[in-house]
Amino acid sequence: MENVIIIGTGCAGYTSAIYTGRANLRPLVLAGTQPGGQLTTTTEVENFPGFPEGVQGPELMMKMMAQAQKFGARFEYETVTSITKDVDDGGFTVVTDTRTHRAKAVIVATGASPRHLGLPNEQQLIGHGLTSCATCDGAFYRDVPVCVIGGGDSACEEATFLTRFASKVYLIHRRDELRASKIMAERALANPKIEPVWNSTIIEYVTDAAGEMTQVRLQNLLTGEESSLDLKCVFVAIGHVPNTAFLGGLAGLDENGYILHHKGMMTNVDGLFAAGDVADHVWRQAITAAGQGCAAAIEVERYLADVWGE
Ligand SMILES: Cc1cc2nc3c(=O)[nH]c(=O)nc-3n(C[C@H](O)[C@H](O)[C@H](O)COP(=O)(O)OP(=O)(O)OC[C@H]3O[C@@H](n4cnc5c(N)ncnc54)[C@H](O)[C@@H]3O)c2cc1C
Repeated sequence: MENVIIIGTGCAGYTSAIYTGRANLRPLVLAGTQPGGQLTTTTEVENFPGFPEGVQGPELMMKMMAQAQKFGARFEYETVTSITKDVDDGGFTVVTDTRTHRAKAVIVATGASPRHLGLPNEQQLIGHGLTSCATCDGAFYRDVPVCVIGGGDSACEEATFLTRFASKVYLIHRRDELRASKIMAERALANPKIEPVWNSTIIEYVTDAAGEMTQVRLQNLLTGEESSLDLKCVFVAIGHVPNTAFLGGLAGLDENGYILHHKGMMTNVDGLFAAGDVADHVWRQAITAAGQGCAAAIEVERYLADVWGE
């Protein structure tokens, strides 16, 4: 039986692997379909401490993986399909797309996938004028027009934040009023740089020859009328989907599907820990995910010592 299985290889999973590796636990890390996690989909990361010149997302993740391997973490490119707590010995059975593992403790670090509109060239545009993180990418769009899609608190917060950099922020929403809390909505709509575009959705992203965003085509959902807006970046703020389907109800989730912590980083199931964006709908940053991965690893060490005598 494994001491600990870490599910996910984003910032949270890799950091858990570094810490449990250094604690001589020989963690088994399951990478899923996106080895390196969300940061592999971006280019420049300017806010991860230790890189004053910035670092490319994929490079940062490869360095984290190498650091974990140095301390004995083992990686398998498997995707977890189910996990159960075994009543006889208190361990876990972790089933993947290729085989079955057993472990004394599990850290779930499977992230949350940003929702997108589902337009044809959307995936290719991520990092080239399409993103779901204003905190991460807002500073790259100084003195140019951008837009935010969405009408909730996140959309309002992102739009307001982006006015620090952008020359103009279009707030594109499907309805004729925001569903954000009153205070957030009022703050956004009072900002002279924010221009709401009501009852509308994006039907096409237009790019230049280099594949960078230059314009969006809009459709008014009431009249069917089409129009366009010149801009450099689309910030999609229509929510995230935490990657928890494989848990099958094992751990407690909040109303939006994020894993709830009950005791430190532990879930309501003894020995099952959660770290990173899968359990965080508030901060969703590389450094916070890494911090939670560290905390989960330290708690796994304590759990294995207390419960399994490791
Ligand atoms: C375009 C973009 C740019 C960003 N830029 C920045 C930035 O500049 N600075 C910053 O701090 N943050 C940035 N972020 C946010 C940052 O990427 C996330 O906060 C961080 O990656 C979260 O790490 P995580 O480990 O929780 O999850 P993720 O990075 O989402 O990793 C999840 C991991 O879980 C795996 N997984 C999922 N399901 C399964 C399964 N069933 N079985 C096995 N494995 C599974 C995936 O394969 C993946 O390896 C950006 C995000 C995006 C999308």
